[in-house]
Amino acid sequence: MFVREICDPVTQLKGAKAGTLTEKALSQLGVATIGCLLCRYPRGWEDRSRLVPLKDFRTGPVCTIVRVIAHYWFYTGKTRTLKVFIEDATARACLVCYNRAFMEHQLVVGETYLVYGDFTFKYGEIRSSVFTVEPVSGDVDISAVRQMLPGQVLPGQILPIYPLTKDLRMANMRSLVKQALDIYLPIIEDEVPQSIRERYRLLTKAQALQAVHFPQSMKDLEKAKKTIIYEELFYLEVMIGKRAQAKRNNRQTPPQDAETARKTETAAPDLQKMLLDRLPFSLTTGQQEAVAEINKDMDGPYPMARLLQGDVGSGKTLVAFLAALKAVEKGGQAAIMAPTELLAHQHAETAAKLLEPLGVKVAFLTGNIKSKGRNQLLKNLMSGAVDVVIGTHALFSHDVCYRDLRLVVIDEQHRFGVIQRQAIMAKGGSLESGAIPDLLMMSATPIPRTLAITVFGDLDVSVIKGLPPGRQPIITHLARESSEESVYAFVRERLKEGAQAYFVYPLIEEGELDLKDAVSMKERLEKEVFPEYKIALAHSRLDEEEKRRTMEAFRQGGIHILVATSVVEVGVDVPNATCMVIEHAERFGLSAMHQLRGRVGRGTAQSYCFLVYSDNYTEVAKTRLMVMRDHSDGFVIAEQDLKLRGPGQISGIEQSGYIRLGLADPVEHAAILEKARADAFAMLEADPGLLLSDHRCVAEALSRAPPFTDVGV
Ligand code: ADP
Ligand code: MG
Repeated sequence: MFVREICDPVTQLKGAKAGTLTEKALSQLGVATIGCLLCRYPRGWEDRSRLVPLKDFRTGPVCTIVRVIAHYWFYTGKTRTLKVFIEDATARACLVCYNRAFMEHQLVVGETYLVYGDFTFKYGEIRSSVFTVEPVSGDVDISAVRQMLPGQVLPGQILPIYPLTKDLRMANMRSLVKQALDIYLPIIEDEVPQSIRERYRLLTKAQALQAVHFPQSMKDLEKAKKTIIYEELFYLEVMIGKRAQAKRNNRQTPPQDAETARKTETAAPDLQKMLLDRLPFSLTTGQQEAVAEINKDMDGPYPMARLLQGDVGSGKTLVAFLAALKAVEKGGQAAIMAPTELLAHQHAETAAKLLEPLGVKVAFLTGNIKSKGRNQLLKNLMSGAVDVVIGTHALFSHDVCYRDLRLVVIDEQHRFGVIQRQAIMAKGGSLESGAIPDLLMMSATPIPRTLAITVFGDLDVSVIKGLPPGRQPIITHLARESSEESVYAFVRERLKEGAQAYFVYPLIEEGELDLKDAVSMKERLEKEVFPEYKIALAHSRLDEEEKRRTMEAFRQGGIHILVATSVVEVGVDVPNATCMVIEHAERFGLSAMHQLRGRVGRGTAQSYCFLVYSDNYTEVAKTRLMVMRDHSDGFVIAEQDLKLRGPGQISGIEQSGYIRLGLADPVEHAAILEKARADAFAMLEADPGLLLSDHRCVAEALSRAPPFTDVGV
C-alpha cells in the first residue's frame, strides 16, 4: 500500500476516538485518515540528543541535564511565581515558572531532570522561562551526566514538533503518529524505483517515514528528509514529464484550406528578415539566440511552450514581434496580450510602426473598445483580415474567434493567473484546425531557472542575456526624505538638458497613512518645485483614454514630468526619460523597484534612479534599498527577493498549486530538483509506458494515488 492510500480513519487510534476534541482538532487540520496523518511531517524537531552544559547555552533551545537545588517564590503584582534554581557541573541557572505553579511538584529538590529550553543571561543569572522538563530516564548514566560530558548523545531523543491547534496537544499528536507508524509501517510500499534509491542511497519509504517522525539521530533525520524531498520532486517532475508527453502527442496539423494556401503563397517569404533590415540597429546576441530558439520551436512538429526571460529593457517586445511575423509567414495569426491597457496600447503603436510597412495587418483590442469598431474587428479576426492583434485579456473573451491563431504571446506573464493562461490556450485548441497554438510567455521578473521549470512545468526557457549596446548603467542613489530638495535640484538640471522624469508614490490620494501621495505631490511639484515644467498624472483610477493621452504626450515630450503610482511599473518605454524618483521607496518591494527603475536607462543618455526613503523603515526595507543600490542585474535582484520573501510569495507561484509539497522547496533544493527532473525525464524517455519492473511502482503510484493533479501552465 502507498502511504497516501491508507484510508483508515484516525479515529481507530487511541486518543482520537470519534467525538473527542482531538478528533475534531485533527479534522480541522484536514487530517481524517491515517495516510494523511503520516504525511503531515513535523515542522521542526527538538534535538534533545546532544547535551549542552549550562555555561555553554546559546541562542535557540538547548538540552541539558541538571539537578534542582532550591525553590523560591516571588511576586509580580498579586501573582505568586515559582523560580527553580538548577545546576550542573558547569554553572547555576534558574527556571522561571510563569503561570506554572504546579512545577513545584514536578521539579523536586535534589532530583535530576532533562531540561529543554531557551536560555538567556539576564539580571545577572542564566535563566529560562520557556522550557520543558522530564525526569531523567533509567538508561542515562547519571554519573557521566553529572560530569556533563559535552556532546554526549542520548539515543531516541529527537522529538517531532507538529503544527497544532488549540485542542490538539503535542503529546497527543506524537502518540498518534507513533501508533500509526507501529501499525502501518510494515505494509507501506516504495514509490521511487529501486535503481534510483540505490544510486542516491535513499531510505525506503517506510524507513523514511519512521525517521522523519522519530529519528534516531540528526544524521538519520537528514537521510529521511533527503529521501522525502527527492521523492516529492521526482513525482512533481514525473507529472510534468507526463504532461509534456501528452502534449507532444497532440501534433500540430496546419489547416490547408484555400484561404491558407492563398496566404502562404502571397505572404512575403521572409517577413522577419524584412523587419530586421528596416531596423536602425541589429539584434543583440541574446535576442538573436532567443529568436533562433523560437523559430526552431515554431517550425517543429510540437506546439511551442516557451518562457522568454529578459531583464527590463533587454528588448523582449521586438522578439515577440519577430515571433508574430513567423506565425504570419506561415499563414496564421498572432495575438499579443499585455496586462494593462497602457502597455497594450504602447505595443500596438510600436507594432503599427514596425509591422504595417511590411504589409502585416495590426489591430488593437481591449475591453474598452465598444460596439461598432469592436464588431468589425471581431469580423476581421474571424475572416483573417487581421494578422496580428494586440490587447489585454479581452483578446480572449468568449465572443472573440480567430480564423487561425498560431501564436499567443503573453507579455509580463507573471501578472496573469493560471486560469487566464488556460483560457487563452483553450482559444487556440478549439479552432477548427484543432491545433494548439504556439505559446510564448515573456517576463522581466526573472525567476531562477530551476523554479521556472517547476512552476511552469514543461516550458522551455530562453534567457536574453545583456542589454542593447550603448546603454549606460543606471546610477542609483539612496536619499533620506530630508534631503529631497537636493534630489529635486538634481532632476531640475536634467530637465534643463531636455530630459524627462518620473516621480512615483505609493498612494494615489491622501489617505490615513502618513505618506506622500501622487495627487497631492503633483500639485506641490507643479506649484512649488517645478513651476516651469509641464507635469501630468498617471494612476489606475484615471480613465483609460486619459491615461493613454497622457502617456502619448509624455512619450512625445510634451509632458516633462510624469507623476505616477506603480502603474508605470510594467513595460512603459520612453527612452528620453532619464530620471526615476521613487518616494517612500521603503514601501516598495524589490521587484516593483527594479521594474520601476527599468523605466529609465532605455536610451543612450546616462540615467539616474533616486530611492527616497523616510525614517520609518524596517530592517527588511533597509536590506531591499541596499540590494537596489548595489545591484542592477534583475536575476540577482530576483534571487535576493526570493531570499527575503520566500518562494511562496512570488506572484504566479501561489496560484500554481505547488504548495502541496511537504518538505521540498524548489528554491532551497534546486540541486535535488535538477537531479529529480533528469531522472524522471530519462525514465519517461526510456520507458514511456512505465512497463519495466523497476518503474512499476511509479506506474502504480500514478494510477492508484497520484500526488499532483494540476501541474503546469
Ligand atoms: P523589455 O524587454 O523591457 O520589454 P523593450 O522591448 O521595451 O524591453 O525594449 C526596450 C527598448 O530597447 C525599446 O526602446 C527598444 O526599441 C530598444 N531595443 C530593443 N532591441 C534593441 C537592440 N537590439 N538595439 C537597440 N535598441 C533596442
Ligand atoms: Mg516589455
